[in-house]
Amino acid sequence: METGFGSGSSNFTFLGSCEYKDELYMISICNGFSLMELFLTLGRKCEEISPQNVILQYLAPHRKLYVTLNEDDDVRNMTHLHTCMRLAIIDMRAVKKDQMGARNVNMAESEDETQTSNDGHLQVSLVSNSIDIWSNCIRGEGQIFKDAAEFRRCAKNYAIATRRSFLYKKNDSEKVILICSVETCSWRIYASRHKADNLFGIRRCNLIHTWR
Ligand SMILES: [Zn+2]
Repeated sequence: METGFGSGSSNFTFLGSCEYKDELYMISICNGFSLMELFLTLGRKCEEISPQNVILQYLAPHRKLYVTLNEDDDVRNMTHLHTCMRLAIIDMRAVKKDQMGARNVNMAESEDETQTSNDGHLQVSLVSNSIDIWSNCIRGEGQIFKDAAEFRRCAKNYAIATRRSFLYKKNDSEKVILICSVETCSWRIYASRHKADNLFGIRRCNLIHTWR
C-alpha cells in the first residue's frame, strides 16, 4: 500500500479506482493532474465518464465521506490528502448528473450518522480533519518526502495546523533548514537530500517550541 515516497520520480502516481454503474475502472493518477486530465484518463476506460455526463467524487479516507471534484485545486487536495495519509489507492466514483439529487436524498435518510447530505457540512468537516492530518504531517527524524517541494508543502500545512510560523534559514532543492520565527525558540528542522539514496528527508529536528 505504501506509495513511492522519496523515489525521486517526478511522475509520482496513485492508483485510482473509479466506480460507475456497478463497474470499477482502474487508472493511474499522476501527482499534478488537472481535473480535465482525470476526466480524459477515465474517459479512455469508459466514454460515458465525461464532464458533461457525470460528477466525479473521491472518498476522503479519514471520514468515509465523498468530496466532489469541481476544479483542479480539488484534485490537488485529493492527491495531497492521500500523500499525507500515505495511501496509494484513491477511491472515486462517477455519479450521473441527473442522479445527484436522488443520491443526496438517500444519504440524508441513511442511519449512519457520520454521513451527511449537505456539501457545506462535508467541506467543513474535511477542513477540520485536514487540520488534524496537517498537525501530524511532520513527524520527526527519518521521515521521507518525495522532494524538497513536498517537504515545504507539508511544513507549511504543519505550521498552519499548529498555529506557528517558521523562517527558512536555507532553502533549495538539496537542503531546507527551518527555524521558528521566534528568535529565542530552538524549534528547527534540518532536511536534505541524501546523495547515497537520493531521498529527501528530515535528518535532524527539534519539534518543541521552547518559547511561548
Ligand atoms: Zn517556536
